[in-house]
Amino acid sequence: MTKDETKTPFILEIKGNSLDDGPGIRSVVFYKGCPLSCVWCHNPESKKAAAEISFDAKLCIDCGVCRDVCPEKALGQDNRFYIDRSKCTLCYLCVDSCPSGALDRVGKAMTVSDIIEKILPDKPFFDTSGGGTTLSGGEPTLYMEFTSQLLKSLKQQDVHTLLETCGYFDLNMFIDMLYPYLDIIYFDIKIIDSIAHKKYCGRPNEKILDNFRWISKKAKKDNKMLLPRLPLIPNITSTETNVRGIVSFLKSQNITEASLLAYNPLWHEKSDKIGVEDPYKKSKEMTSFEDKAVLERCKAILMEGGIKEIIL
Ligand code: SF4
Ligand code: SF4
Repeated sequence: MTKDETKTPFILEIKGNSLDDGPGIRSVVFYKGCPLSCVWCHNPESKKAAAEISFDAKLCIDCGVCRDVCPEKALGQDNRFYIDRSKCTLCYLCVDSCPSGALDRVGKAMTVSDIIEKILPDKPFFDTSGGGTTLSGGEPTLYMEFTSQLLKSLKQQDVHTLLETCGYFDLNMFIDMLYPYLDIIYFDIKIIDSIAHKKYCGRPNEKILDNFRWISKKAKKDNKMLLPRLPLIPNITSTETNVRGIVSFLKSQNITEASLLAYNPLWHEKSDKIGVEDPYKKSKEMTSFEDKAVLERCKAILMEGGIKEIIL
């Protein structure tokens, strides 16, 4: 990642009227760029910090307009992903010419003011429903300065704030720049074994667990909500050993509530759109929704550990 990429994120989407990302009605700001690279990422288009281009074969009517306008001759049915990204310069001439919306920009440059302007019309809905704004991704903590400015602006407008994080960030910067302006923190804990964490998420987990330890103590003192979330990925995170290990860690931090995130296989379609090879495409477990028996077993492990499941 270049220095500038750490300053200003590309925004994938601002989703309004969300009921799934915290209390009440919320606007969710999805950042692009993440320090982890989980093999099962539900938003694979959010992994890279840089802008990208996507192609949805289901929408394409094969009119050929895009192939005619592309100065780099980067498009063609002979390419499995339709776009040769090694040639593409992201001029977006094809996107602007496509009559069916099959080609699209992935990531939009937005200022803090642009985001606030987009979100604020929904403030009456936040206020009547107990909602607000959720920062998600990608990983908002990758852009500390920008996210701090955004949170401060939201707080100036009296908007409730929630951060969804993978936990891999510089703790001192987080404490100074983000923590004071957050009402709720959803903190993902995926894999308790550090070697397995590095294998499946690209980095070891010590920094994540250390950050969680500090935040859990501080949040308790401040009466701020910190909710650990456990994404359940078949044969990777939802194994008995892993869930028991995470529960044991949470108990050691006096955590009494956590949330299980059931597996959703729809990310496989997204990988094709951004031209990324998907090693799990033929895996029966990874292309099916979460097995109910596995989900029940994970719930039981939480209960046995004295941790209440919060359903999001
Ligand atoms: S963005 Fe530009 S270079 Fe890339 S495929 Fe489209 S027209 Fe070609
Ligand atoms: S312009 Fe759009 S619809 Fe036409 S061939 Fe290209 S991607 Fe398909």
